[in-house]
Amino acid sequence: MDSFLEAARYYFERAADGLDVGSRLRRQLVTPRREIRFECILPLDNGEIATFTGYRVQHDEARGPMKGGIRFSPEVDHDEVAALASLMTWKTAVVDLPYGGAKGGIECDPHQLSRREVQRLTRIWTDQLHDVIGPNIDVPAPDLGTNAQTMAWVADQFALHHGWTPAVVTGKPIDLGGSLGREAATGRGVTHVTKLVLADRGEPVTGRKVAIQGFGNVGSWSARLLAAEDALIVAVSDVTGAVRNPDGLDVDALAGHVESTGGVSGFDGGEGFSGDELLVEPCDVLIPAAIEGVLTADNAGHVQAGVVVEAANGPTTPAGDETLRSRGITVVPDIFANAGGVTVSYFEWVQNIQQQPWAEERVNGELAARMTKAYADLSDRAAATGGDLRDAAYQLAVGRVARATTLRT
Ligand code: GLU
Repeated sequence: MDSFLEAARYYFERAADGLDVGSRLRRQLVTPRREIRFECILPLDNGEIATFTGYRVQHDEARGPMKGGIRFSPEVDHDEVAALASLMTWKTAVVDLPYGGAKGGIECDPHQLSRREVQRLTRIWTDQLHDVIGPNIDVPAPDLGTNAQTMAWVADQFALHHGWTPAVVTGKPIDLGGSLGREAATGRGVTHVTKLVLADRGEPVTGRKVAIQGFGNVGSWSARLLAAEDALIVAVSDVTGAVRNPDGLDVDALAGHVESTGGVSGFDGGEGFSGDELLVEPCDVLIPAAIEGVLTADNAGHVQAGVVVEAANGPTTPAGDETLRSRGITVVPDIFANAGGVTVSYFEWVQNIQQQPWAEERVNGELAARMTKAYADLSDRAAATGGDLRDAAYQLAVGRVARATTLRT
C-alpha cells in the first residue's frame, strides 16, 4: 500500500470502521463527484508547441462548495490530485468550514517555463474549467508551484466568461480582493497547532528545537513564526540541500539567502548537510512541509522528535504512521495541522461575498479561535476513544461529511 491515493483511502477506511459507516455510504464518500483530465496545448515563447496534462478532481460537496488548491509540478498525476482532493474534503470538515473538497493541477515544471508561459498555461487551465468552478461550486486556491499571481490569472480568465467574480478563487493578491494574512496563514496555523500540542505535553515553545523539511510558503512561514515564539529552528532543507545550526538558524537571514540564491544551500549561518537526513535530525518537533510520502517504514524508526506536525499534505505513509505511533511519537495530522491556509481562504471568500475587507488582526484572531476549537474537539475525541489525533481528526471529519451526505440523499 504505497501509493498516496491508497494511503488516503486507508486513513478514511480506518475512520469509517470506527464510525460503523455502511458500505453504500462508504462508496458514496470515497467516489469523487467529478474528475476532469484534459490536454493543455501551450505555444512556447520560442514558437514551439508543448503539451501538458491538466486536472481537476472534485471530490465531495455535501457540506458546501468544493475547495482546494491548484498544483503545478512534474509529479502531478491523476492519483495525486485525487488523493489531495479527498484530503481537502476531510480538512475542511475538521475545521468545520462550509466546504467540500477538490484539487487540481498541471503536470509541468513551472521553473522551466517563462512567466508568460505559466500565465498562458494558467489561462488554458481556467478555460477548460470555467463552467465547473465558481464561488458556489468549486473555489481553487494556491498550492505547490502556484501563488497569488497564478490566482490573479485564474480570476482574470474566469472574468472573460462570467464577469469579475473575486470569490471564484482565494489566495489572490490583496489588490484584487485577497485577504490580509492569507499568505502566512498555513504557517500561522502550523505555529498554533505546534503550541497547542506542546502545551498539552507541558512543554513551552521557548527553546524547543524544530527541524523543517521544505522552505516554500508553508515551511518558511512556519519557521519565521515559530522563531518569533522563541523556538529554535535547528535545521531546514529544500530541494537544493539542507542547513543546520544546533543554536538556532537566523530565519530572516536564511529567507534573505533563499530570496537571492533560490534555495537554502550555501547559507553561511549554519552547517550544510544532506537533505535526506533532515527527517532524522535531533530535534523536539519535526515539521515535514514539502511533499507527500516522506515519512515511511524505512525512516520513521529513526525520527528523533517527540512531535511531528504534518504541514505538508500526506507526508506520512500508513506504515510510517504505524511506526511513529508504536514509538509513542505524537503526530499532528495534515488535515488539521495545515488547515490554517484553507481557513483563511474561507475568510477571504466571506470577505469577497460580503464586499467587506477585514483587518489583519481579525483574520489572525479568527484563525486562532478556529484552530484552538478544532484542537479541543480532536483531543477530546482522542481521549474518549483512546485513538490518536489522526484517528480523531478523520472520525470527526468523516462523521460530519457522512451526516451531511445522509441528510441530502
Ligand atoms: N492548497 C492549500 C491546502 O492544501 C490551500 C487550499 C485552499 O485554500 O483552498 O490546504
